[in-house]
Amino acid sequence: MKKKLLEFLISHSKNNGFIFPSSEIYGGINAIFDYGQYGVELKNNIKEYWWKSMVQINDNIVGMDSSILMHPNVWKASKHASKFNELLIDNKTSKKRYRPDLLIMNHVKKYFKKNPDERNKIVSRLLKFLKKKDLLGIKKIIDELNICDPLTKTKDWTNIRYFNMMFEIKNFKNLFLRPETAQGSFCNFQNVRITNRFKIPFGIAQIGKSFRNEITARQFLFRLREFEQMELQFFIYPKKEEEKLWYEYWKNYRLKWHFELNLGKEKYKLFNHDSLAHYASIGMDIEFDFPFGFKELEGIHSRRDFDIKQHELFSKKKLGISEVNGKTIIPYVIETSLGLDRIFLAILFSSLKKEILKNGKTRVVLKLPSFLSPIKAAILPLVNKDGIPDIAKNIFNNMKIHYPMIYDNKGTIGKLYRRQDAIGTPLCFTVDYLTKNTNTVTVRYRDNMNQQRIHIKEISKLIEKETGLKNILNRISNN
Ligand code: ATP
Repeated sequence: MKKKLLEFLISHSKNNGFIFPSSEIYGGINAIFDYGQYGVELKNNIKEYWWKSMVQINDNIVGMDSSILMHPNVWKASKHASKFNELLIDNKTSKKRYRPDLLIMNHVKKYFKKNPDERNKIVSRLLKFLKKKDLLGIKKIIDELNICDPLTKTKDWTNIRYFNMMFEIKNFKNLFLRPETAQGSFCNFQNVRITNRFKIPFGIAQIGKSFRNEITARQFLFRLREFEQMELQFFIYPKKEEEKLWYEYWKNYRLKWHFELNLGKEKYKLFNHDSLAHYASIGMDIEFDFPFGFKELEGIHSRRDFDIKQHELFSKKKLGISEVNGKTIIPYVIETSLGLDRIFLAILFSSLKKEILKNGKTRVVLKLPSFLSPIKAAILPLVNKDGIPDIAKNIFNNMKIHYPMIYDNKGTIGKLYRRQDAIGTPLCFTVDYLTKNTNTVTVRYRDNMNQQRIHIKEISKLIEKETGLKNILNRISNN
């Protein structure tokens, strides 16, 4: 059922200008997508919501935009060069690559549904081997369970080995596409602190592209090789009590941000990590109920002083902060990291509805959070004659500098409404004969299709009330 929903979502996104497969005319490229005319607007609105609620309303947080390419030593210091690895196994017949841990997990999910004891035994064996980095042990599980290649059903596996997930740039030795934006914030931590005369606690926020050579890159926008992250690095006093306090603070703040989207609280789950990334001391995922089950949407970690200490060591520059008592401290860091493409997918998936109307017809409607809708309102002439389109065009021209709007006269009014429903436009204003004498229009609401007559002068106020970000930012900042 959910698989069908994902297929429906992919085709709806393509047919309505949200997401196109990259380089489609050449057959596409695995796990890379382009954002179309409405996709880019929705994505920009999500960015704006994140930026304003992280940077604009927090006076101890500033933003920056660091470069994608960084000095090779950055990745040595951060240990991405040596430790940012995934396990990999090849099938010699299909020439396909797989993550062995996922092969095992998918196998037990499929074949041990009715035998949870046995399933748990296999999973805990796998976790033990993963922890001990016992690659032969993991391979033994694959052999014992007779796991075959999902495509060719053959079992001619290679040995398991590690695979670094950074993309190296050809002809430039040790130059990589960054796998996270965070290192740009760490390398500029002193620049920002000094030029802003910041005292800890303070934060640096970034939105930017990251790249990872994912082995199993699929599931639409969920696991991409080129994606965007919205990350905060929040620098605090290096004490365990402070770490606990700020970790809780950012967990709650981020959850509040998500809940304001109204996608349904039951769609979120928290998952505390036992096995952590090499830089982290505590960590959790905010998981979301995607079309393929609960999966990581956002990560929240304490990176302690790992990164700054490593950069101090490798750059031989002083990156500590001098205190009044003459002591120098290296701050701890709490990180929140949200995948922009993943939250885009979560929003799109939760908003796409197929509704059966009273007259038995079906309507497809994208019930996006209105403040994120690519188009805030459409101005539609009821008929294409008797000066009605001119009045509608005039209203549109007066309003388009204030809001992203659409003027559409290519079809019957029913068709025009359906087109706006499909792209999630919350308000449609219809101009008809009555407009000529009364200066009123019909407003039609996307979600319940209710209609109401209002004066032209009230259009702007209504758009602001229904689609503005102000109230949400107010609620987030007052908590
Ligand atoms: P996963 O376990 O799903 O691979 P991760 O734990 O490696 O994710 P982080 O390194 O914590 O992810 O990255 C922070 C966020 O960046 C993730 O929560 C996710 O939203 C996003 N992200 C990471 N990898 C990808 C990817 N390949 N495609 C899209 N978004 C990603």
